[in-house]
This record gives sequence, C-alpha cells and structure tokens, in this order.
Amino acid sequence: MSSWSALWSSEETHPFVLFRALVQKYGAEWVNWAPAVLRQSLHKSGATPARINLSKALATAAIVQRDEFWTNWEVFHFLAQALNNNTPSSRDMQELTVGQMMTAVDIAEHLRKELKTLSYVPSFSDEVARFVAAQAKAQAVWYLPAPLDFAAHLAAGKSYRCGDCGSESEVVFDDGLCDTCIERWSMDSLKDWAPNPALLQRGRGRNITIFEKNPTEKVKTRLAQALTSKITLLEKPTDVCVSRLLVAIQYAALRRRQRDEQLLMLKSVA
Ligand SMILES: [Zn+2]
Repeated sequence: MSSWSALWSSEETHPFVLFRALVQKYGAEWVNWAPAVLRQSLHKSGATPARINLSKALATAAIVQRDEFWTNWEVFHFLAQALNNNTPSSRDMQELTVGQMMTAVDIAEHLRKELKTLSYVPSFSDEVARFVAAQAKAQAVWYLPAPLDFAAHLAAGKSYRCGDCGSESEVVFDDGLCDTCIERWSMDSLKDWAPNPALLQRGRGRNITIFEKNPTEKVKTRLAQALTSKITLLEKPTDVCVSRLLVAIQYAALRRRQRDEQLLMLKSVA
C-alpha cells in the first residue's frame, strides 16, 4: 500500500485505516457526506475505490455518528459484515463468527476513541448481547472473553434457582432477586419490570442460587492454558469451545496487526 490510490483499490485495507485516511485528507466532516459525495471526492482525488472499501468507509461513518451498532442487533449484524471485508446485506442473515464479532467490536471502540469529541463508547443493549450470544452458541462457543464479555452471561445461560418458591429461571436483571417472589412480571403496572416494593421490604426473593447452564470455568482455565503453553486439545465440548475461541482470538489479533502495519504505511501516504 504505497499510494493513496492503492489504499482504496486494495480490498485488504483495514476499515480503521480508511477512516483515518479520510479524516487526514478531508477533515472529520467527511462522515456527514452522502455516499455519492464520498465516491465523487475519491474519484477526483485519483482513487478508484473497491466497492467493499466504500462499504467499509460508510460503516465507520455510521459508527462514529450513531449508536445503533450498540443498540440494534440488525445494525450490528449489517455493519459487522462490512468491517470484516464482506459485502453487507440486510436481507440475508449472514453468520458472524466469534472472531468477526470480536473484530467488529474492536474496530467500533477504536473509532469512537479516535474522534476525541465523540469519545464515549456506548454500552451494548440486551438485544445486541442476545444476538452475539446466539451466534456464538450456534458455533459451540459459550464462554465469551473480552471484547464480547458483554454477552458472556447470556452465552453461559446464567440462571437461578429459588430456595423459597422453587422456581428456576434465566437471570435477566442480575440484581440477586427471584422474579417470582417479588412479582417482577406482574402486569399490574406496565411501566417497568420493577419488584413489588412491599414484598421487597419484607425481604422476599433473596434466597436464590445462581448457576450456569453452560459452565464457563473449565473453558476459561483451558483457554488460559492453551494461550500460554502448548496443550493438546481433545474432542470434548470444553476443548472444542476452546479451539474455536483460539481461532477467534487469533483472527482478531491478526486484524489488529494488519491495522497497525497499515497505519504505519499510511503515514508515508499522507
Ligand atoms: Zn422465588
């Protein structure tokens, strides 16, 4: 990637590099441009952008300007494809690998930190977390390390058993209360899913035991071993999960390396 035009024609150019290159050349305002204006400006500058690079650049603009990547699963699904060098489609459901989701989150956080005035990084909504957990579980991965840890409790299937009423349920609010004993899902008030204050005051709903449907502790230990020393992974669910995580972590690391190498070269292009 020795020149401005090569930066745009190579499909391998990292989205973050495209973003920074555009800011260097046109200032941060480019993120407000319509796609046609962006294309035109690039053509005028002597670059013929690969289609996928336009998608990537537009995805970065969407991420710095709006929060939907963090709040809406469909937007997350769409933009994550572009950030991973795939032609994004909102009509077809494309499976995102754990590594691709790690990379997308990584890039999104980096983008938010790049523009100092827009430096806050939103928290992921329950909706996006559920989507990420579902994708991971479909790939036999139920332990999610950073940067996907926001969905870890869902992938693990964190549940509780109540010692008082005997109910067993998924942890939704994670406030240590039994939803049944405090009438969380009561339809009397449709404003929120708040506990009944009278029951709460009587100390109800506190006798719960949390457990994971898909225990993560073993995966965590094996993954740490696999990352630091050479171990032989077996054909057991735990190790299969670990081996998939290793692939994901290596992919995310590779993409970060690509970004850093390309950023160094960008200095000579600018
Ligand atoms: Zn209960």
